[in-house]
Amino acid sequence: MSTRWIEETFHPHWRVALEASEVLHEVKTEHQHLVIFRNETWGTVLMLDGVCQLTTSDEFVYHEMMAHVPLMALEKPKNVLVVGGGDGGVLREVLKHDCVDKATMVEIDRTVIDTALEHYPEIPGAAFDDPRADVVIADGLEYVAKTEEKFDAIIVDSSEPIGPSAVLHTREFFADCKRALAKGGVLVTQNGLPFLFPDHLAGTTRVFASLFKRVAPYMCTQPCYFGGPFALNFATDDKSILNLEQKVLAKRVRKRGISDLKYWTPAVHSAAFALPAYAEAVVTEAIAAAKAGDDSAYASTPAPAPTKLARKTKKKPAEKKPAAKPTRAKSDSQA
Ligand code: SAM
Repeated sequence: MSTRWIEETFHPHWRVALEASEVLHEVKTEHQHLVIFRNETWGTVLMLDGVCQLTTSDEFVYHEMMAHVPLMALEKPKNVLVVGGGDGGVLREVLKHDCVDKATMVEIDRTVIDTALEHYPEIPGAAFDDPRADVVIADGLEYVAKTEEKFDAIIVDSSEPIGPSAVLHTREFFADCKRALAKGGVLVTQNGLPFLFPDHLAGTTRVFASLFKRVAPYMCTQPCYFGGPFALNFATDDKSILNLEQKVLAKRVRKRGISDLKYWTPAVHSAAFALPAYAEAVVTEAIAAAKAGDDSAYASTPAPAPTKLARKTKKKPAEKKPAAKPTRAKSDSQA
């Protein structure tokens, strides 16, 4: 029987395909296309709307950096909100902090949770059964707009700014997150691959810089996200929680009894905020734009119209125009 190759389709001009030795679940839910499959190299893979969300071989990278950077930056995080994250990976990491009294996870698509428990239970582990966990099936945009609670940390573990997740990359949503944060709280979100999509990091940074006193993107290397280092964005009004000494971080991780991490360390925490120059330039420009009044968020754009082949003409060849910056295309399942 021929094996199926499943493509990631959000790049307009190149694609990544993974061999599916076994498709475990494939469905068009009310919100998105979901496929879970086995791959000999990556383990079990979750793709949503044509974008790889996680693999069981390297999910620890992203989930540890999404959870421990904000929570270790805080002296005593007690109330945490995770928006998205239906696979349970971030929730699992948040609950490792014994100082956390309550972790609310707001996930729009129940199918993601159910299929995680069925096909890759090692990622949620016991997180969904933890008495401190409160799982809410709702649109994160609406939940944050209505909540009266105040959270020490809000972690937006969304998918790419397409489909149901597009609203989680808007100024409206981030402004409501800011309102829902306790004094000195921290907001973290994922900002894609700045080498390929600098506009995503730029847009979120503009909005964060217009809402918070400090915006500090950080990066990690997520092997299954092809296209360079992965950016996460971090915003707070309490400048003291940035540039923490490694010995302070080491004391916190010991005090909270966390010992089974495979990516986050105090040194990685500090180093993650050191951006390569090309990303630093995007951030500096975005902060300056916000100061000049431009607080526009990243707007996911449709795939560029396929370029028409130039008709053969005798005239001298047109001078070469610089290649257009890649923009995020809608994935196949949405085309
Ligand atoms: N943990 C993943 C990873 O490692 O990349 C991150 C992606 S996680 C699977 C993204 C989740 O956000 C999905 O479960 C998706 O259903 C959820 N989601 C998308 N839009 C949402 C919305 N508006 N409100 C709440 N959850 C949303």
